[in-house]
Amino acid sequence: MRMNMKNIVILVLLCLPFTAQAELKVFACEPEWSALAEEIAGDLVKATSATHAMQDPHYIEARPSLISKVRKADLVVCSGAQLEIGWLPMLLSKANNPRVLPGKDGFLEASSVVPRLGVPENIDRAQGDMHPQGNPHIQMNPHNIARVAQAMGERMALLDPENAQRYASGTRDFLERWGAALAVWEELAQPLAGKRVVCHHQSWIYLEDWLKLEEIATLEPVPGIPPTASHLSALLAELGTDGNGADAIIRAPFQSKKASEWLQDRTAIPAVMLPLTVGGSDGADNLFSLFDDVLERLLNATGVAGT
Ligand SMILES: [Zn+2]
Repeated sequence: MRMNMKNIVILVLLCLPFTAQAELKVFACEPEWSALAEEIAGDLVKATSATHAMQDPHYIEARPSLISKVRKADLVVCSGAQLEIGWLPMLLSKANNPRVLPGKDGFLEASSVVPRLGVPENIDRAQGDMHPQGNPHIQMNPHNIARVAQAMGERMALLDPENAQRYASGTRDFLERWGAALAVWEELAQPLAGKRVVCHHQSWIYLEDWLKLEEIATLEPVPGIPPTASHLSALLAELGTDGNGADAIIRAPFQSKKASEWLQDRTAIPAVMLPLTVGGSDGADNLFSLFDDVLERLLNATGVAGT
């Protein structure tokens, strides 16, 4: 068969590798990691998140649409430390994408690159088994975001070596902007040091560690068990009614406000909702404004704003 020029051109085009339009598909388990992928790599990546800010990342359903996204993913990024134990293993097994299995270059466990807090000395099931490998809610210390950014940028370069320079410069640029924001946040947050907080779930220990807050109680009697009337009554007795029992009662947007408001009404300790990730409040529409908003809300609640 003789080929005319047009056919030859089409044939050559079909044979060209598609690297020119390479787009790293990033499947994040939580919105903070898809936001971070975009901060670092811009339009070199297409990032999606399995969960959104109004969902508890401990519990979602392994829906077919998520399975198909994992199947096509080049990089899966999750907080890990068993945060996603209820749904991620199912997604990974059904997606049949060996490149993104734990241990492969296409899987990044964010909590493995940060100092993990809350690692139990011995796992006592009576204490709940929500955080058996330590606390997975690492994103609320911005120093951890910087550590994960570094690891994520390196992983992207490994997976897409042709664009390695761009991932490296994207990471450097992000870390520079992040460092500048960190300095402002740490200055602003100084009056929060030593404030005592009651938290719905132990979602905030990395924030507490960063800001030197003291967590004196949780509304959950044990991690993962919703607040009970008897536990709340015991807290009320402990905290008193004069407003001095603690400085704030903190919950995430997906946690029922009933318990924290019940306690606020009786103890005169202000209850405050803090976004736990990007999208968790109107103000928190990217990683930078997430921390701006958390600090503003905490400073307002504890009455030290502007001091
Ligand atoms: Zn948890």
